[in-house]
Amino acid sequence: MAAQRIEELFNRPASPVEELHGALSESAGLRLFVKRDDLLALSPGSAFCGNKWRKLKYNLLAAQEQGKRHLLTFGGAYSNHLAAVAEAAQALGFQSTGIVRGEEPAGLNPTLRLARACGMQLQYVSRTLYRSKAAPGFLERLGIDSGSVYMIPEGGTNKLALAGCRELAEEILDQLSPDYVLAACGTGGTLAGIITGLKDRCRVLGISVLKGDIHKGEVKKLLEAHQGAAYEHWGVLTNYHHGGYAKWTPELLEFIRNFRSDFGIALDPIYTGKLCYAVFDLIRGGYFPRGATLVAVHTGGLQGVAGFEERFGIKL
Ligand SMILES: *Cc1c(COP(=O)(O)O)cnc(C)c1O
Repeated sequence: MAAQRIEELFNRPASPVEELHGALSESAGLRLFVKRDDLLALSPGSAFCGNKWRKLKYNLLAAQEQGKRHLLTFGGAYSNHLAAVAEAAQALGFQSTGIVRGEEPAGLNPTLRLARACGMQLQYVSRTLYRSKAAPGFLERLGIDSGSVYMIPEGGTNKLALAGCRELAEEILDQLSPDYVLAACGTGGTLAGIITGLKDRCRVLGISVLKGDIHKGEVKKLLEAHQGAAYEHWGVLTNYHHGGYAKWTPELLEFIRNFRSDFGIALDPIYTGKLCYAVFDLIRGGYFPRGATLVAVHTGGLQGVAGFEERFGIKL
């Protein structure tokens, strides 16, 4: 039965925390760990991994409980979330539809190819129309009966996603006594979930991967809407976006290559590369007090690397 399969799928041991030994953290008197949620995946290298694994768990269970067999979601053409939903749907026998922002690209990029190979139906909508995706009747205009689908918002951020990410934070507390937990911030859903799991027992820092100052307010809104709770020991750093969402600098790429050769851990340039770059920059700048234990959350996202390389003609 499908019910059994979803529960079985998510019945996994905790993802490991790995310590990074290096001159930088040692000279700063710190211990630095990576929470390897990238290893929490449908299969090694799968797009259904990391924070998308956490965010989808309770949504998939809810879809099943509601008797829905069709998942529908939204995203840009390179979206890790879209790829993750496509893989999850295929693995669990759901139908899936992805509403993609923008015109259909001439040749499908690796993310859309993967989604299609998983059986996801892709519907392209103009950027203008895409902006009205939350308006009543939006799906009907595309010929989709909204009552028959289980809808997951863009990026997968909703109350149930926060519940999944709370478990990630609880796992960290079982494994370590951290002073700081750091994670990349896209919609802020993952950060909000982590904050609710840590309950002010340590500091939480989000690294914003897009330009601007929206996250502080977004995360606060998510916490209020879904938790009705106020937490204090968290913040968002807004100066590590490297030019904006999916933008990059040569220093970022250089950092990602060095990180892989020093620690044997691959990072993506959109999220986890910017996170780890920030962590190292903060350590170098003396941000953390001596003796502190830091945990950077590897939220996955490696499916995006191929599309990034193709788009910018770069080899990471
Ligand atoms: C989607 C994604 C994020 C952003 O998560 P939010 O909950 O939207 O903030 C971070 N890291 C990776 C690897 C992602 O794929």
